[in-house]
Amino acid sequence: MHMDTVLERVRDCIRKMHGYVPGKQPAEGQYVKLNTNENPYPPSPVVMEALRQAVNEDLRYYSDPLATPLREEAARHYGCATEEVVVGNGSDDVLTMIFRTFLDAGDVLVTPSPSYSLYQVLGNLQAADYREISMGPAYTLPEGLDACHAKLIFVVNPNAPTGVLHPTEALRDLLRRSDSMVVLDEAYADFAGQSAIDLLSEFPNLIVVRTFSKSYALAGMRLGLGFARREVIAQMMKVKDSYNLDRLAIVAGCAALRDQEWLRKTTDRIIATRTSTLEALASMGLHVPPSRSNFVFPRIPDGRAAEVHRLLEDRRILVRYFNAPPTADSLRVTVGTDDDMTTFTETLKTLL
Ligand code: PMP
Repeated sequence: MHMDTVLERVRDCIRKMHGYVPGKQPAEGQYVKLNTNENPYPPSPVVMEALRQAVNEDLRYYSDPLATPLREEAARHYGCATEEVVVGNGSDDVLTMIFRTFLDAGDVLVTPSPSYSLYQVLGNLQAADYREISMGPAYTLPEGLDACHAKLIFVVNPNAPTGVLHPTEALRDLLRRSDSMVVLDEAYADFAGQSAIDLLSEFPNLIVVRTFSKSYALAGMRLGLGFARREVIAQMMKVKDSYNLDRLAIVAGCAALRDQEWLRKTTDRIIATRTSTLEALASMGLHVPPSRSNFVFPRIPDGRAAEVHRLLEDRRILVRYFNAPPTADSLRVTVGTDDDMTTFTETLKTLL
């Protein structure tokens, strides 16, 4: 068969779409790596020890398809029922389950813009109708999300890539007015000290998504959580891959949740570095939204964001640049260690 004919067999929506572009993961070399919002500190020693114990011959058996120990631990920690928790191979996997559960071809999903770019990609995979509503210059929750009567509304809180936190009252208002499912992506919530998981008892149309990739320093382990009413979780369980978490990930997730002392200390450290970084950027005269996450989003003057991104990389500093409006004038910079951030701000000064 000719390759053109082979490619005609591919679904239309796949042929037409662009895939998600992840941040660079350099295989080698000395970089100050501030481009993918990873934690600059190693995972909890409790997690490392649990993993060492779990590397044994039981790996020949499949993992628990329901990941029961992790769902139980998460339910204990977040104060809900085990049946209100689903786990994913990273929170991207939980997001994928949500898309596959709720969206048919042509269904509408809407998100305030700028937002997490994966939503558009996952929408395209379902041949869904992806829409954005601008948050405006202050990056506040826009009016009109509920007026779309979408199947799904996605709100990242605190937002990515701006770092701005939407107050709980604004979210409650949206949930109350909306006939859509509202997905709150709380990937960065541990750095904000605010969560909507408690709102589940009030709103059956709420789904909350969490990750271990940022605050728990386990991006490489691929662990995410979804919270919703048990009837919703039961539907999502049907679409998930049978063994979506491996044995080691389940063990790591349980251990991570048990070591809250580590989480508090590490998060406090990152928040302190965030404060000093925001101060340093403001003292350079840069406009930076008030971040409540583990990254900052300075605006680079004179249309030079793309150029400064490249010049930083030449100097072995990786940050993230999104090359399209409304984010094309800014750089997203992960909060690393104090030393990382001094290197970044001092280098940036020489480039402006
Ligand atoms: N949601 C948001 C807003 C993110 O920025 C990310 C990280 N790219 C994720 C979800 C996915 O993270 P993970 O799959 O590592 O849990």
